Amino acid sequence: MSKRILVLPGDGIGPEIVAEAVKVLDRLAGEGLAVELDEGLVGGAAYDAVGSPLPEATVAMAKEADAVLLGAVGGPKWEPLDIALRPEKGLLGLRAELGLFSNLRPAILYPQLADASSLRAEIVAGLDLMIVRELTGGIYFGQPRGVRTLDSGERQGFNTLVYAEHEIERIVRSACEIAMKRGRRLCSVDKANVLECTELWREVATRVVAHEYPEIELSHMYVDNAAMQLVKWPKQFDVMVTTNMFGDILSDAAAMLTGSIGMLPSASLNEQGQGMYEPIHGSAPDIAGKGVANPLATILSVAMMLRYSLDEPAMADRIEAAVNSVLDQELRTPDIMSEGMTEVDCMGMGDAVVAAL
Ligand code: NAD
Repeated sequence: MSKRILVLPGDGIGPEIVAEAVKVLDRLAGEGLAVELDEGLVGGAAYDAVGSPLPEATVAMAKEADAVLLGAVGGPKWEPLDIALRPEKGLLGLRAELGLFSNLRPAILYPQLADASSLRAEIVAGLDLMIVRELTGGIYFGQPRGVRTLDSGERQGFNTLVYAEHEIERIVRSACEIAMKRGRRLCSVDKANVLECTELWREVATRVVAHEYPEIELSHMYVDNAAMQLVKWPKQFDVMVTTNMFGDILSDAAAMLTGSIGMLPSASLNEQGQGMYEPIHGSAPDIAGKGVANPLATILSVAMMLRYSLDEPAMADRIEAAVNSVLDQELRTPDIMSEGMTEVDCMGMGDAVVAAL
C-alpha cells in the first residue's frame, strides 16, 4: 500500500525548497517507492487563501497522512496580524493536533563545509549528533503560569516545570529507538542537582534504558556542562535527550556549530511514528522569490522521513550519499559558497541531487 505524504510548502522560500524535495521524492517513486503526495495550505499562504493559518482541511489531511513535509512559515507581511492568526500558529497547531512530542534535531557537519563553522575544523569536521527534545510538555506548557501581583504590590512572573512519568518514559524510548539506529550511546541532559522534576527525569531515564534497552550505553549530564561540552568537543555525543526548554537552547547551539542553517533537517514524531519533517530554518523573506535558497535541509528532511516514518532506511542513505556527492562535486548555493567552488541556484542544487541519486 502507498504511503501518503502531505506536502505543505508554506511561505517565503518554502515553495522553492519544497519543489526540489518533491523532485527527489518523484525520482524515488519512479524507482518503486510507493508514495502518494497531497498538497495543503499552511501559514501565511493559508491565511491569504482562506483566512486561517491552519485550515481544518489541512489538519484533516495531516491526520490521514503517514508523514508531513513542511517548508517554512512566516514573514513580515503577516506580522501585523493578531497572534492567533499569525503563520506560526499554523505550525504550533499542527504539532498539537498531531501530538508530536519528540523533536529530532540532528547537527551534522559535512567535512566539505567545515570552514563554515565558527569552531576550528578539527573540532567539528564530520560532526554527527542527534538531539531529541521533548516538545509538548515541561515549562513551556506547565500550569500554573502567569504574572501575579504580590501583597507588597510588586509583580511576579511564574512558570511551572512539570513532567509526568509517562511523558519522560515516551521521550526516552523515542531517543532510544533513534540511538539503536545509530551508535547506541545516549546522553540524558537534566539539572537534577537543583530541580526535583529533572531528578525524576534522571531516575525514569535510568529505569527505561536498563529495563528496555540494555544494549544502550546511557550517561547523564547537567545542562550547564552539556552546553560547555557541546562547544568544547561536540563529537563526544551520539544521541542526547532532554526537556523542552533545555532542548530548545542546546539544539540551536548545536545547529550553529555547523555554521550552515540551510543544511539542517528536523523531524517531530508522535507515538504512532507519524512525523512532520521540515528544515530547521525559517522562510528567509530576505531571499524569497530569488531562486537562490539552499534546498538541501529540505531534501535531507525527506531522508529523515524515509528513515523514521516510512521505514525505508536504504533510500534515506541514498539521499544522504547524493547530498555528499554534490558537495564533493564542489557545487554550492550562495549561503555555503566559498572560493573555488561552483555556485548553483536552488533548482540547480535540486537537479544535482537528483542526478547524483
Ligand atoms: P530564517 O531562518 O528564515 O533566516 C535566517 C537567515 O538565514 C536569513 O539571512 C536567511 O536568508 C538565511 N537562510 C535561511 N534558510 C536558508 C536557506 N535554505 N538557504 C539560504 N539561506 C537561508 O530566520 P528569520 O529571518 O529569523 O525568520 C524569518 C521568518 O521565518 C519569520 O517570520 C519567522 O517567524 C519564520 N520562521 C519560521 C520557522 C518555521 O517555519 N519552522 C522557523 C524559524 C523562523
